[in-house]
Amino acid sequence: MTYIGIDLGTTNSVVATIKDGIPYVIPNSEGSRTTPSIVAYTKNQKILVGKLAKRQSVINPKNTFFSIKRFIGLRKNEIDTQLKKLPYDIIEDSNNNIKIKCPAFNTVFSPEEISAQIIRKLTDDAKLHLNEEVTKAVITIPAYFNASQRQATIDAGKIAGLEILRIINEPTAASLAYGLDKKNKTILVFDLGGGTFDVSILDVSDNVFEVLATTGDVNLGGDDFDKNLISWLIDIFNKKENLNILDYPKSLQRLTEAAEQAKIQLSTHEETEISLPFLITKPKDGGEPRHLNLTVTRKIFEKINNDLINRCKKPVEQALLDAKLDVSDLDDVVLVGGSTRIPAIKELIRSIIFEKLDESINPDESVWLNNSINPDEAVAIGAALQAGILAGDLKQMLLLDVTPLSLGVETIGEVMTKIINRNTTVPASRFKTFITSSHLQRSVEINVLQGEREFVKDNQLIGSFYLNDIPTQTEDSRAQIDITFDINENGILEVKAQEKKTKRHTAILIENTSTLDDTMIQSMVNDAEKYAEQDKEKRKLAELSTQATVYADDMEKEIELLKPTINRYDFLQIKKAIQQIRNDLPSNNFKTLKSSYDELIRLINLLKIKLKKKN
Ligand code: AMP
Repeated sequence: MTYIGIDLGTTNSVVATIKDGIPYVIPNSEGSRTTPSIVAYTKNQKILVGKLAKRQSVINPKNTFFSIKRFIGLRKNEIDTQLKKLPYDIIEDSNNNIKIKCPAFNTVFSPEEISAQIIRKLTDDAKLHLNEEVTKAVITIPAYFNASQRQATIDAGKIAGLEILRIINEPTAASLAYGLDKKNKTILVFDLGGGTFDVSILDVSDNVFEVLATTGDVNLGGDDFDKNLISWLIDIFNKKENLNILDYPKSLQRLTEAAEQAKIQLSTHEETEISLPFLITKPKDGGEPRHLNLTVTRKIFEKINNDLINRCKKPVEQALLDAKLDVSDLDDVVLVGGSTRIPAIKELIRSIIFEKLDESINPDESVWLNNSINPDEAVAIGAALQAGILAGDLKQMLLLDVTPLSLGVETIGEVMTKIINRNTTVPASRFKTFITSSHLQRSVEINVLQGEREFVKDNQLIGSFYLNDIPTQTEDSRAQIDITFDINENGILEVKAQEKKTKRHTAILIENTSTLDDTMIQSMVNDAEKYAEQDKEKRKLAELSTQATVYADDMEKEIELLKPTINRYDFLQIKKAIQQIRNDLPSNNFKTLKSSYDELIRLINLLKIKLKKKN
């Protein structure tokens, strides 16, 4: 039995563990180290997670759920208006909780259930890879997540059948991965992922991570760079071919994938070739099939994304301002998120840091720019390290985090009175004594709030309960109520109200910040277990489908290139075999698909032998 660390990202997720004292990233069943955080439900009742879900997203937009992390633990009125423009439908239930409509299954899902599908895939793949039961996990969350978002993430883990040892802040996990917990330091964590941009400034001393500031842009990430490149490609293609590629969803899907690949290539190459033969096989104008062949240079890529690159600057300045620090106070800059591999982003960070420093002081980027770990893996590695510490495998002090927001209660005048201040090291327990407003008062309503603002209306109400049967007092005295806040290491809060004389008390665990209650979670756990066996079969088929699709696409490209050098019969036979795979894919019949896939492999191997002989 072992444990894992999960970076449950908005765009991609990563899972890691500790083996022989060393953290390492576990590849998924498709062989990749990152898994797209996408879940799709298909018309024939299949659940696809990760790459498989991503591949069919353009043709199944209403049932393909991405960016679910943006909704977890929130009510509908709390989400960004921009998000309401998603291709899938978001509704709310009678408690204002967000539900995601899934027409393919004719049902609605909570964000926790969809996230649980991602966690389940990561866990299953880890089990398979490690050949061991995986029962416990540490999951990471953004530093700005409030109590209900934290609780909802724990619930998602539970639905996936895991015991959640701890949830920790992503920038804390990344810093831990870089071994920055060992010294007293001030660290800037620059996290540009697929869909979001977070900047955090942390202060580390004596194993306590304090978040000094956290800002960002929840609508900025690598996907936006892809979108710009896609628009640019569409423009060129449509003009040249006098067609609208948006009328061809499958072609658009191929173009979308090619654009991301090109972006990734441009991080290490000055230019890259985008080659999509037969992008449109049957044009509506009745003409010849259309191909796309284009060279994209890094310069063009940077030009079309110039605005996005510049948008990364302000949050860094804001974070420094919030933390009341100057760049010269920073000891380390940690890069997190796949998009920090973009050279122009690195250049931007360099320019921000060096702008104010005398270059001769610190010209070597390795001194301040910590990039010794893959930026897209640092958070998961940190989570695995934390899991290792909690499991007692790693001999290190417990890592402590701090509360991201202040917690308190409503008092007279609709004011929030803070009981636990933000940045208090957790676990923590604090209490304050309040008096009733009238001697006849028999009951008090306790409204629990979080936030930094003075007035109740500007903060978030996270729970509410009553303390009843307070004894009436004499005219000149008032009942005294102790209100105690206990916050555990996950940032989950218990609030207790006790009348001093009678010791009568009531308490709530701020679990109702979650959008699910215990019975709902249990039924979701049961459902998930019920479907696990079925899912295995479906996954086998899904894996074969991906392999066959990728192989058919790749071989199509190859033989188009080889066309002038191979005989027409071989060419046509291979084309036929490729087509056969594409015909068999929708049938979802493992045996049939396997046989057409094997046939294509056989023909390709024969062709390779022939070509070898010829040379
Ligand atoms: P993350 O959420 O950290 O996994 O980051 C995902 C984003 O990073 C996606 O938009 C990826 O396309 C992008 N990405 C991954 N590798 C690279 C790379 N080498 N160059 C540029 N972007 C990348």
